[in-house]
This record gives sequence, C-alpha cells and structure tokens, in this order.
Amino acid sequence: MAGTRTGHKPVYRLFPVEVARVRRLGPSFVRLTFTAECLSDFGAGGVDQRIKLVLAQPGRTLADFPNGPDWYQQWLALPDEIRPVLRTYTVRSYRPEPAELDIDFVLHGGPGGHSGPAATWAATARPGDEIGVLGPDRPGTGRMWGCEWAPPASASHLVLAGDETAVPAVASIVETLPPCARGIVCLEVPEEHDRQEWAVPDGVEVRWFPRCASAPHGKLLEEGVAAALDELHPRSRGGVADLDEVDVDAATLWDVPADDAAPGQFYGWLAGEAAVIKRLRQLLVRDYGIPKQAVAFMGYWRHGHS
Ligand SMILES: Cc1cc2nc3c(=O)[nH]c(=O)nc-3n(C[C@H](O)[C@H](O)[C@H](O)COP(=O)(O)OP(=O)(O)OC[C@H]3O[C@@H](n4cnc5c(N)ncnc54)[C@H](O)[C@@H]3O)c2cc1C
Repeated sequence: MAGTRTGHKPVYRLFPVEVARVRRLGPSFVRLTFTAECLSDFGAGGVDQRIKLVLAQPGRTLADFPNGPDWYQQWLALPDEIRPVLRTYTVRSYRPEPAELDIDFVLHGGPGGHSGPAATWAATARPGDEIGVLGPDRPGTGRMWGCEWAPPASASHLVLAGDETAVPAVASIVETLPPCARGIVCLEVPEEHDRQEWAVPDGVEVRWFPRCASAPHGKLLEEGVAAALDELHPRSRGGVADLDEVDVDAATLWDVPADDAAPGQFYGWLAGEAAVIKRLRQLLVRDYGIPKQAVAFMGYWRHGHS
C-alpha cells in the first residue's frame, strides 16, 4: 500500500542490466526496457521509486563500481577518469516475470540545450548495451525504497505537478490511484506530442502544458498549478507560513511530509527543476496557506548543474 513504511532496511546493490528494447514515446522521451536474470531479485518499492543509473567511463566497465555496503565512500575515492557516473531516475515499471525494468528518459540537450552523460547515453542506446542499476535488494515500500508518494488516507484533494523529468513518476503514481481518488495533475513538457495517455480514475484530471519553445521553463506549470489550487483549495488563499529559504544552487530542495504528519484533506506532490519547484512551494505554502506537512517538494535537477 502506498505510504506504508517498512522497518526492514534494504541493501542497495548493483544490478548489471542490458537494454532489451527501445521505444520512442514522443519527441522528448525514450523508454528503455532493461533485462537481466539478476533483476528477478530487484527490490521493487512501488510508485515514484528512484534508483541510480551507473554508467562506466568511456573505455571502462561496470567492474569499476565498488559494490558492497560501503560503496559510496569507495566510489567517491576513485580517480575522476575511473569513477562511474551516477544519475537518479525513476522506475516507470518493473516486471519480475520476465525480469524487466522500464525507465523513461528525457532527451534533454536539443538545440541550445545542455546534455549530460545519462541523456546522451539513452539517446543512442541499442539492444544489448549495458548499464548498471543501483537499487534495493528486496521488495518493500516507503522512503527506504526511494518512494516519496505517501498521501494520508484522509487526503481527498490531490495535486501533482512536475516538469518532464517527473512524468515517469507521475505516470506510475496515477495509474495506481484508487477509483475514488480526486485531484488535478499538472505536467509541463517540451512539446505538444510529449503528452501521454494513462488510465486514471474519473475524479482525476491530467492537464498538459507543452512549452513548444515559446515559454520559459516552469512558467506554464506555475500558472497551471495556481489555477488548480483556485479550484481545489480556494478558501485558504492569502495564508502565510514559515518557510526556510533554500538556496537551490547550494543545497538540495527536498522536503517531504514526515511519517507522522497530521492527516489532512490536501496532499501535494511536486517535482522538477529545483528553482521552479521552489517557486511552486512558495505558491502552495505562502500564498495558499497549505501546511508544509501536506506537500512533498522535490528538486529533481538544477539548470546548469550536473
Ligand atoms: C528522484 C529523481 C527521479 C528522476 N527521474 C527521472 C526520470 O525518470 N527520467 C528523467 O529523464 N530524469 C529523471 N530525473 C532527472 C535526472 O536525474 C536529471 O535530469 C539528470 O541531470 C540527467 O542526467 P544527465 O547526465 O543527462 O545530465 P547532467 O550531467 O546531470 O546535467 C548536464 C546539464 O544538463 C542539464 N539538465 C539536466 N537534466 C535536464 C533536463 N531534464 N532538461 C534540461 N536540462 C537538463 C543540467 O542542468 C546540466 O546543465 C530524476 C531525478 C531525481 C532526483
């Protein structure tokens, strides 16, 4: 069940996998399906589950990755030219039979954009290409499995919002909502044809905001979320709450409700470019008076930073 916190901590281990299939989902997205026998032991955690991708440096192999309980310190200590690249992604879906994992990659870095090792790798990936997935070694749910979606049972008004990097997580979340769920989903994507079709409950509306190269990143999303809040949470407009100022260039913007947060009617989940998410956070908490404890805010990436 979403939100259940399981006390038995998983170990994060490397799953060496290879590309089985490549499917273009739209101008800005490609779905890579990974396979490997070891994936039958993958610790599936449910919706919005993050994992790390491990990319070997050019001319090197995944054997450079220091597997084991203290992998992080060993990985940090490796020379730059050997240290494999780590990037965070979302499990779009996992199938224990036949041991497959789907990850949807945003192909950022078009004309005028900045690409990075993960998006570049995904753009040219072919069946048989190898990569590492760093993930939990046993099934479970909750934060220890990298899952942040945890609405209280009392939440009757859901707002999910994000840019293209949040689309895979949002897709996974909305497909598992109960039939009685009610809410508004706002997603900003680069192009008109990046819209996706999902089976969602009748009470959940998905609104797409394609930038089409004419709007700055986040502008349409901020307007869309404000309109959604006017519909779902109008009465608290003008509320003010204490909000720590986060410098998104120096610190990670990541604030999710505590496990023992008080139950409420509203639950929000926001993810995407950190400066945009910071402004959305101010919109919800400062302008609309929504309790901080009712909203998960996650900076998934930052303009100009790897
Ligand atoms: C929990 C979590 C889950 C995520 N899930 C997904 C997912 O499922 N799919 C997905 O595609 N991404 C996802 N991301 C975002 C992804 O980790 C970043 O986009 C990452 O920076 C991509 O790595 P890279 O090597 O391509 O680029 P980097 O080397 O990290 O960055 C290189 C340059 O590209 C810019 N950049 C990075 N991402 C973008 C972007 N999307 N658009 C425009 N410019 C960009 C950076 O600002 C930098 O200037 C997730 C992030 C988090 C934290």
